Amino acid sequence: MSKTAPTYAQEVRQRHETLIALRRDFHRHAELSHKEHRTATVIAEKLAAAGLEVRTGINGTGVVGVLRGDKPGPVAAWRADIDALPLVEALPLEFRSVNEGAMHACGHDGHTAIALVLAELFAARRRELAGTLVFIFQPAEETFGGAAGMIQAGVLENPRVDTILGLHLTTQYPVGHVAVRPGPSMASADFFDIEVKGKGGHGAFPHLSVDPITVAAHIVIGMQDLVSREIAAQETAVMTVGEIHSGTKHNIIPETAVLRGSIRAFRTNVRDQMVERLGSFASRIAQAYRAEARVTLVGDCCPPVVNDAAWAGHVRGEAVAELGAEKVTEGKPAMGSDDMSLFLNERPGCYFWVGVAPPGKEAQPHHHPAFELDEGGLEVGVRVGLRSLLKALELPPGR
Ligand SMILES: [Zn+2]
Ligand SMILES: [Zn+2]
Repeated sequence: MSKTAPTYAQEVRQRHETLIALRRDFHRHAELSHKEHRTATVIAEKLAAAGLEVRTGINGTGVVGVLRGDKPGPVAAWRADIDALPLVEALPLEFRSVNEGAMHACGHDGHTAIALVLAELFAARRRELAGTLVFIFQPAEETFGGAAGMIQAGVLENPRVDTILGLHLTTQYPVGHVAVRPGPSMASADFFDIEVKGKGGHGAFPHLSVDPITVAAHIVIGMQDLVSREIAAQETAVMTVGEIHSGTKHNIIPETAVLRGSIRAFRTNVRDQMVERLGSFASRIAQAYRAEARVTLVGDCCPPVVNDAAWAGHVRGEAVAELGAEKVTEGKPAMGSDDMSLFLNERPGCYFWVGVAPPGKEAQPHHHPAFELDEGGLEVGVRVGLRSLLKALELPPGR
């Protein structure tokens, strides 16, 4: 490289406006899970313009860009999720979502913009690159329906990915801060329905009926003990019933009651234990009251996000070198879930947190209609992502 060629740091700075503009464009045109058609089109156009090999229509609206360096070397993947949430945006932003009922309230607009800028940065350096970078733009993270289908479609093969990296923006930390955890860092998520079948009748003659509401109540109370009495105190699990449906009138004992809820855990064995015990627990409680109960898992489940210890160490090291040790922490494991876990079950890698908390005011949680991120954090994501990908290609941190 000649002396006048810009450094990576300069190139990141040069793309500052592009980064913000991309994020705002995706924000303005927020699209729900599996419906990210415009988003996917923009991604594919940008990747193609930068000279990457582009594959579209993967698991619906997924896009992959492959960047082959001029020299041989390892294959590293970067994963970004691209979908928005079914919310009506509450803030009067100039780039407010024009798609009423779809809003980027989790920061995936930022993830998409960061990944595109990374792809463009590396594409401009193709001649220096030893190895291959695979940029994975995944649909439908919010419904956990995106990652599995992309993996089945072979996005980690041909070229065979050695390492997978990615980030999630978070208002838990201020701009300039990064958190990286080795091991479990986000919880699993399973969603269940419990159908309790009793025998309907008149509310004045319960002895002639089998009351499913009483049974449902006992199941809800009793299942709290599955966590407190059956999971070791050092482990973590959450079991929540979020819906109860039954009955039509004051004086009618209904036929059925339906409970809907979710289970979260950080370890697969804890998750499996909870799922299995809930099934037998609910059915036996119901039996004791002469009723029946059946537990079914619904929707797409998501295992815990488990970072490879070595890769968490590498990313942490790169973040410290880029931002300073005082800006990098392990953070706390998050009870939320992310189907990045499925990629990390296939390949070693790391999913880390990048702070975007707006300064001077209380940050709204992710998935809130007034969710807001400080765009200053986007460039931090690019900087740490860039160094981490160079590390994955076994290249020096660059100039
Ligand atoms: Zn989310
Ligand atoms: Zn998210």
